[in-house]
Parts: sequence; C-alpha cells; structure tokens
Amino acid sequence: MIYDVAVVGAGAAGLMAAIFAGRGGARVAVVDGARKIGAKILISGGGRCNVTHDVVTPEDFNGNRNTIGRVLRTFSVEQTIAFFEEIGVALKREETGKLFPVTDRASTVLDALLRATREAGAEIMSGTRVKAIRTGSSFRLETNGVPLLASRVVLATGGQSVPKTGSDGHGFTIAHSLGHTVTETFPALVPLVIEEPHWIRDLTGTSADVELFVRSGSRRVLVRRRGAMLLTHFGVSGPVVLDISRHWIAARNEDRATTLVANFLPGDSAEELEKRLVAAGRRNPHGTVSSVLRGLVPERILSTLAPPTPLGRLEREERRRIALSLTELPIPVSRDRGFDYAEVTAGGVPLSEIESATMESRRCRGLYLCGEILDVDGRIGGFNFQWAWNSGRLAGLNCANLA
Ligand SMILES: Cc1cc2nc3c(=O)[nH]c(=O)nc-3n(C[C@H](O)[C@H](O)[C@H](O)COP(=O)(O)OP(=O)(O)OC[C@H]3O[C@@H](n4cnc5c(N)ncnc54)[C@H](O)[C@@H]3O)c2cc1C
Repeated sequence: MIYDVAVVGAGAAGLMAAIFAGRGGARVAVVDGARKIGAKILISGGGRCNVTHDVVTPEDFNGNRNTIGRVLRTFSVEQTIAFFEEIGVALKREETGKLFPVTDRASTVLDALLRATREAGAEIMSGTRVKAIRTGSSFRLETNGVPLLASRVVLATGGQSVPKTGSDGHGFTIAHSLGHTVTETFPALVPLVIEEPHWIRDLTGTSADVELFVRSGSRRVLVRRRGAMLLTHFGVSGPVVLDISRHWIAARNEDRATTLVANFLPGDSAEELEKRLVAAGRRNPHGTVSSVLRGLVPERILSTLAPPTPLGRLEREERRRIALSLTELPIPVSRDRGFDYAEVTAGGVPLSEIESATMESRRCRGLYLCGEILDVDGRIGGFNFQWAWNSGRLAGLNCANLA
C-alpha cells in the first residue's frame, strides 16, 4: 500500500503535520519508534505542558531569525489558541505569559492531538522505528517491521534531548542520507554542573533572582539573562540557567576561558553596591552587609558571601571583595548536564536547506522537515512547542496540497 504522506515521528511537530495533511485529504500514516506515543509532551512543562507564550517573536529563538519569522507568521499565537480550543484544549495564561491547559495536565494536550490525528483520518503506528529511507518513484521507509511506501515524507524525528523518549538523533542520520547537512548539535535548556566542591552545591534548594552573563576570556560580556537561578546538589539550574546554557556551551566550545558570572543584585554594579554600603555604614555603623541587603538576596547566600562584620569596621578592601562576590560571582561550571537532562537540542538541519513557505526540503523533493530536527531552539516559556506547531502545520498543509 502506498500512502500519500508518511510522517516519521509522532511528537508535537509530527502530530500537527499528520492532522493538517489528513484534513487536506491526504492518506497519511504517522509512525513512531516509541511504543507509547507522546512521552515528551507528557513530561513537558513539569507535566503541565507549556503549550505556547502570549507573545512569540523571532527574537525568542536561536537560528536564522528571518526564516523563523516567516514560519511564525503563518500561524499566530491567537490561531494556536483557537486551534487547541477547537480540538478540546482550553488554555489559560499565567502571570509569566506562559500558556497551559486549564486542566494543568499535559495528557489533556496529548489526548486531544491524538484524537484530532485520528479524526483527520491519519493512521498512527507506534513501535515502528524507521531505520532508513530510500528514494525512487516513491519513498521506501525501512522499519523494524514491514517497509512502508509513501509519495511524500515528513521528517519530524525531533532532536537528541531526553533520548529515552524516542528522540535519539537517528533522524539526523536519515536527513543526512537524503542529502542534508547537520550542524554540530549540543544540549540547550540544560542545567549546568559544578564538579569541584563549592558552597553553591551545599545550598541545594535555594533560589535567587539573578542576572547571569557569559563572559569571554577577554572579559567581554557576550550574553545577559535575568531570572530565577536554583542552586542544586550538582550545580545550578532554574529558568535563567536553562536559558543561558546554550550560549555558555557555544562560547565555551570556542574559548575555554569563557566564564559564567552571576549578579545577585541585578542592575547594580560592584561600585554602586560599595557606595550603598558606605552610605549605610555612615547611617548605622553597627549594621551589616546582610542587614542592608535583607530581602534582596536570599539569607543563606548572604551568610555565605558576607561576613557579619559591622559596616563601620569593614576595611575598604574587604568591602570591595564582598561587593564583587555579590555582583560578579564567577560560577565554576565544568560542563553541562547532557542530553539526558536537556529540554532541547541546539543545531540540526540548517533552515537554509528548506523552503520556509512550505517546509519542503531543497535537497530532496517530496521530503518535508519540521520541529526540533531543524536548527532552531527557543528560550524557555512555550516557544519550542510553538515552533513545532507552526512548522508541523505548514509541512502538513503543503505536503497534502499535492495529494
Ligand atoms: C523535560 C522537557 C520539558 C519540556 N517542556 C517544554 C514546554 O513546557 N514548552 C515547550 O515549548 N517546550 C518544552 N520542551 C521542548 C519540546 O518538548 C520540544 O521542543 C518538542 O517536543 C519538539 O517536538 P518534535 O515533534 O520536533 O520532536 P519530539 O517531540 O522529540 O518528537 C520526535 C518523535 O520522533 C520519534 N522518532 C525519532 N526517531 C525516530 C525514528 N527513526 N523512527 C520513528 N520515530 C522516531 C520519537 O520517538 C519522538 O516521538 C520540553 C522538553 C523536555 C525534554
């Protein structure tokens, strides 16, 4: 039997492609190596699935922003909300701008997508791993079972993050065999590890609002991000760490002297803090650094970085050292926590190798690519799913048009 469209990978992007290809009248098979489909959707957003964000712009992503912008414009956040409403998932916006299902359950999203896929007439085949794809008069998909024939193929195999969900990077090998290049891949949205003993690892569970910056060996600030940092038994995590991780990894790969630096008083420099401490000491010489900064920096961090010396007795050098440690603390990160703990993959098939209007490959006619397999990664907040919804829908619409 020849399908019009075979979608490889039933994750967020693949299910979206299958729904829109099926609705467009194509005879669709969507195959996934995993026995249980949708593991990544189920673990997303801490089990709540952060479906999208109330404002999504190309600047929320790393990758070719012109192409990303063109793809984003085809399906706005409002249209995404309406689509989910239509398939039975009402979304709510949280204070941070993130949108979640009102049920607070990722399974609501997965169940609705699977239902919509079936209603669109697409056949879902779980436990069917695609080993290779051969081209000819049609595509021949070699699987762990019987081969599948299809006129068009949508490759939606994701990246390499959390490989036990089924996204183990084999899609990159398939894309390569069909004429694509694959840029170097590395974990993104990943916690960072401090290997040697360090006080940060002793303060597990402490969370602080910080500004993090990646500083090159020549002390140039390459990237800044602000948000919550969580201190853990292995190093650092939390939204701001996840967001900056891919920038630290990329810079560190280029220059071993790259450092990650934390400011526990975002917006304040060491000089400003010193001035503040001098002024506070004049008003109350018995006060301490901790009493001045109470409520601004977590108590456990203050008691580690600032001695209880009264401000009136604090030597200039000591004051300078404390101000620097609170505003420019180097975090001795030795490595990232790897793909097992990364939410996304940085790198992949370059966007320049696909038609952004259709998601069709420029290297292999009849092949479409969407989702995380492409060289796009978004910041934390629902942006990676929005990329999957947009690019998957576009691939599905366009491969069905030829049916
Ligand atoms: C812990 C975690 C939490 C996250 N939370 C969020 C969040 O809240 N919001 C957000 O926007 N993003 C989140 N993300 C990122 C988001 O889940 C991904 O960017 C998105 O799921 C990518 O969709 P995809 O369809 O491209 O790939 P995937 O979802 O990875 O799907 C790819 C599918 O292809 C299948 N497959 C792979 N190779 C083969 C093969 N050879 N043959 C057959 N099938 C194959 C896999 O089994 C898999 O089901 C999170 C990620 C993780 C890991």
